[in-house]
Amino acid sequence: SGLSKYSTAAATEEPIKPTVNIEHTQLLIDGKFVNAASGKTFPTLDPRTGEVITHVAEGDAEDVNRAVSAARKAFDLGPWPRMTAYERSRILLRFADLIEKHNDEIAALETWDNGKPYEQSAQIEIPMLVRLFRYYAGWADKIHGLTVPADGPYHVQTLHEPIGVAGQIIPWNFPLLMFAWKVGPALACGNTIVLKTAEQTPLSALYVAKLLHEAGVPDGVLNILSGFGPTAGAALASHMDVDKLAFTGSTDTGKIVLELAARSNLKPVTLELGGKSPFIVCEDADVDQAVEQAHFALFFNQGQCCCAGSRTFVHERVYDEFIEKAKARALKRSVGDPFKGGIEQGPQIDSEQFEKILKYIRSGVESGATLETGGDRLGNKGFYIKPTVFSNVQDNMSIAKDEIFGPVQSILKFRDLEEVIKRANNTRYGLAAGVYTKSLDTANILTRSLRAGTVWINCFDTFDAAIPFGGYKMSGIGREKGIYSLNNYLQVKAVVTPLQNPTWL
Ligand code: NAD
Repeated sequence: SGLSKYSTAAATEEPIKPTVNIEHTQLLIDGKFVNAASGKTFPTLDPRTGEVITHVAEGDAEDVNRAVSAARKAFDLGPWPRMTAYERSRILLRFADLIEKHNDEIAALETWDNGKPYEQSAQIEIPMLVRLFRYYAGWADKIHGLTVPADGPYHVQTLHEPIGVAGQIIPWNFPLLMFAWKVGPALACGNTIVLKTAEQTPLSALYVAKLLHEAGVPDGVLNILSGFGPTAGAALASHMDVDKLAFTGSTDTGKIVLELAARSNLKPVTLELGGKSPFIVCEDADVDQAVEQAHFALFFNQGQCCCAGSRTFVHERVYDEFIEKAKARALKRSVGDPFKGGIEQGPQIDSEQFEKILKYIRSGVESGATLETGGDRLGNKGFYIKPTVFSNVQDNMSIAKDEIFGPVQSILKFRDLEEVIKRANNTRYGLAAGVYTKSLDTANILTRSLRAGTVWINCFDTFDAAIPFGGYKMSGIGREKGIYSLNNYLQVKAVVTPLQNPTWL
């Protein structure tokens, strides 16, 4: 229709050629780019077309062994945990400077491999990466233990030591931000790392890992494996010489890696998993602002956010107005080649996610929700989906219960606060929640009643380096970012020394 920006979308045009060379496609082990032990490679695809960008080395169990022994050696014998914290901090600061210097190439790689708008990569995500490494560089020389009171003549202190070799497994939706959330605190604390990227998005982490070595990190401190979950990922999660595991991805896979960790060496595990976050629009909300924020909360990053506001609860008094405006906003969303200026939405990551989302849309229609707009693919190549809005969604429909991970907004009607609190919490997830209201009382009641790791009041997706993030219930275990992430990567050692003949006793 004439109303819709996506009717002329670039999905049918020739894709714009990214202006970046792909320099690294091998595994990074012990400071060197090497082939997989098996010699195998796998293709990484351009979500705009489904065509091959390049082939990358396919890491498997033997490569995990090689990478873990490099990380082990770097931890047990190398300079990284032994240098002054100030030196580590300066290396991380130099790394942040190098990322900043190469902002546009890194952003282009991220967009090419993932499909997210280039402007989002270049203006939001890569700058956040820089900020995050500067934030953790700031922590490196502020980590220390305590002097502890004793009941007898003892001097007691605690040492906060790095935990050792950290295994890290990350997803494809924010390849570099997930890299930073994991690598930043682990390095600041003096650990060494084996990180497995998602098989859909292996390219950008290899590029920035090279910059980390240029910044002065010793060989073996950060090892990067491209490869698949059930092979490389499982080998890392169950490795006997990995001291800690950090995972971000789906709840189902989170259960698998937790079990692998328990069955091997009981390594502690932090998990950042899925969500079905409520976005609650109260009757006193500024409807125009709430529509815009609810739209952003769901559609940002093609709807591929673990914390997406994927259940939009709207008070009955503003419901009809909200639906009209939400529909108009979705129709205005600019969808197309993510390298084009002004584009808000690119393609979904791959055919598997694309098909899964279309299936959920069909199930929404079949279960009786009202399809206000969208509902099918856009163009005839790549993985573009029209911004989709359902109204009249009921709590028991699968579009209201399952994580869709796509551009599909589900709007539900509510009558009073008590009811919406119960319904918002009636989920196995608890990652985030959004609240739109002008009343301090309502905001306070909802903040304290919602069982979620983050509550955004009159905003959404505010992600500073210092703000902790993580889930209640089946959305995860532990917190990342901020001061909270440091504990994931530290051991506490109590040191007890008798005092000789203390004169005051
Ligand atoms: P996924 O769980 O399939 O994959 C995530 C990572 O786990 C990938 O690197 C994958 O290779 C690896 N993996 C898969 N199977 C494995 C196995 N058996 N053993 C070890 N590793 C394995 O998830 P996905 O579909 O790629 O990502 C989307 C999901 O991630 C969504 O459910 C989303 O909610 C979640 N997510 C959560 C957060 C968060 O911070 N809570 C952030 C981003 C994504």
